[in-house]
Amino acid sequence: MIEEEKLALDTYTYLGELWGINQFLNIQKSEQSHVNAVSNLIERYDLTYTMLPEGEFMNEELQGLYNQFVVDGSKSQLNALIIGATIEDLDIVDLEGLMQSISNGGILNVFESLQCGSRNHLRAFVGTINQMGGNYTPQYLSMEEFIIIIESSNERCN
Ligand code: ZN
Ligand code: ZN
Repeated sequence: MIEEEKLALDTYTYLGELWGINQFLNIQKSEQSHVNAVSNLIERYDLTYTMLPEGEFMNEELQGLYNQFVVDGSKSQLNALIIGATIEDLDIVDLEGLMQSISNGGILNVFESLQCGSRNHLRAFVGTINQMGGNYTPQYLSMEEFIIIIESSNERCN
């Protein structure tokens, strides 16, 4: 999970610098706080994780996604925003799956807060995509779940 939050952080850092889109820079700050939240859990439970440099991941699947996202997101601003929505879409679904196997209340609270942030980020990216005349089709969430999120208002996340 920490590398999935890092995937968001590193991708938005890269695309934000490339395109100078403020939305990436704002959401990037939130991703830094998500990375910190998971990092605190890792410390609290005496686990170890060594953060790799920007753009580098231990998890091969996430490394593959990062490599693909920076290429696709470099094609156009609209593509970059679609990558943003894709990352949030994936994040929400992966957190949902993980939360089903977690019983620890403290960890659940943190993951719920991350998921809440992801829903807000998804709303923000999709809103901008639509304003630009584009369209985002969910790739991980079901269409029904996606519509429920998009049609509800921003949440206050702990
Ligand atoms: Zn996040
Ligand atoms: Zn996010």
